Amino acid sequence: MATVLFPSLKTRSVSTPTKLLINNQWVESDSGKMFATFNPATGEEIASIAEADAGDVDRAVSAARQALERGPWRTMSASERGRLITRLADLLEKHAEELAELEALDNGMPLSTARNVALPLTIAHFRYFAGWADKNHGKTIPVNGNYFCYTRHEPVGVVGQITPWNFPLLMYGMKLGPALSMGNTVVLKPAEQTPLTALRVGELIVEAGFPPGVVNILPGYGPTAGAAIANHMDIDKVAFTGSTEVGHSILEAAGRTNLKRVSLELGGKSPNIVFADADMDETIEGCHFALFFNQGQVCCAGSRLFVEDKIFDEFVEKSVARAKRRTVGDPFDPATEQGPQIDSVQFEKVMSYIKSGQCEGAELLTGGNRIGDKGYFIEPTVFAEVKDNMKIAREEIFGPVMSIMKFHDLDEVIARSNNTTYGLAAAVWTRDIGKALAISNNVRAGTVWVNCFDVFDAAAPFGGFKQSGIGREMGEYALQQYTEVKTVTIKM
Ligand code: ADP
Repeated sequence: MATVLFPSLKTRSVSTPTKLLINNQWVESDSGKMFATFNPATGEEIASIAEADAGDVDRAVSAARQALERGPWRTMSASERGRLITRLADLLEKHAEELAELEALDNGMPLSTARNVALPLTIAHFRYFAGWADKNHGKTIPVNGNYFCYTRHEPVGVVGQITPWNFPLLMYGMKLGPALSMGNTVVLKPAEQTPLTALRVGELIVEAGFPPGVVNILPGYGPTAGAAIANHMDIDKVAFTGSTEVGHSILEAAGRTNLKRVSLELGGKSPNIVFADADMDETIEGCHFALFFNQGQVCCAGSRLFVEDKIFDEFVEKSVARAKRRTVGDPFDPATEQGPQIDSVQFEKVMSYIKSGQCEGAELLTGGNRIGDKGYFIEPTVFAEVKDNMKIAREEIFGPVMSIMKFHDLDEVIARSNNTTYGLAAAVWTRDIGKALAISNNVRAGTVWVNCFDVFDAAAPFGGFKQSGIGREMGEYALQQYTEVKTVTIKM
């Protein structure tokens, strides 16, 4: 098996496979094509990876179908499935430091984020869903007449999973966890920008003892390998996390082909609402984190920051001071709070939003520039006097750009919060329980945080209202995405 070593990492060498995982074998792609994955901190190539396309998707789907219908996976008890997932969680824990290094290298997130957030949360997902394997079951139903009626919870079947680059490992926990727990088989395509941890996880999946074909991993591009998954006639369900634009195309592909089930976790433009009675310092720090965490590359980032007029000036001044103190640099430096953006495409996109904010008359108070001349680092940027109709207030920037808006009263801020096509998350900062509940009840979003932000737990569902998505991941609700219900009625 081809592996690639990264001896330059300070702590130790880590390695990962570079081929496709199909039927527990590491194989070349049909076309023999390879693609490069880059270190966003330097722009340099890290490794060359086998590039999957439609033919490889066919091979992986056949392996997954075989595993679903004939292999040991089909007859395995639910508790044994749970044990396998727990074994995988144990292996992830054993190799946590190495996986954190790979994630930081390929994605550019600070090693501290990979180590303290991504890994523990990923592992927690596998443990949580391992526990559900033998607990999500059918019912007996007292129907009219002399019949015995019960339901069976069966796997949906062969599941395609298409993941983004912003939290690669976490996505595998959120997607593989419930799919495997409920007995499905999987063809997973990681984002082309960040294939490395998916491949290393693939190796651990084989080591954990999952039967051949249960998990197949196909690095490759969206319009080729991704579209082949979305259009495949023998894939029963697709779970996708990424842009709203691609979300539309996945749903269209499902409609055009075999009506496969689709769950989508898409973009956001989350309102983050600060009332004058909130604890000022705690809220400044919380709102800074809400926007700048993971270089601003978070689908639920608090990117429309509404601040009550009474405290607006002080809040803006303190937020700017905090952004100026943010440390940007080498993801492997323990002092780093912010690494590079993922690639040149995202870098250019973020810079063009900054330009558009300036052109449309928002007040640029700090940042706005590139840092250095290699890698994709952007200064923490703060705009004030942002108006609702400006592009930076309407569109997802996915970068370290804070937009602060002023509001006067509760009804107004609820209406403005809801004036968006998105509905992923929202937050409110206040000591007044009435205001907290008014926001929680009336803002249309899948998650609302009160006096906190980005608090995630494997047990708490996450997903979007409106064009932020379809369905819920995480928690018990995620099981429905991977379960078909069969009703059996027996004449007595
Ligand atoms: P981003 O703009 O953040 O990169 P995308 O939605 O383009 O988000 O990408 C998220 C995932 O979707 C990636 O794995 C990518 O390869 C995949 N993808 C992109 N385009 C398509 C497509 N047309 N069909 C299926 N998957 C796609």
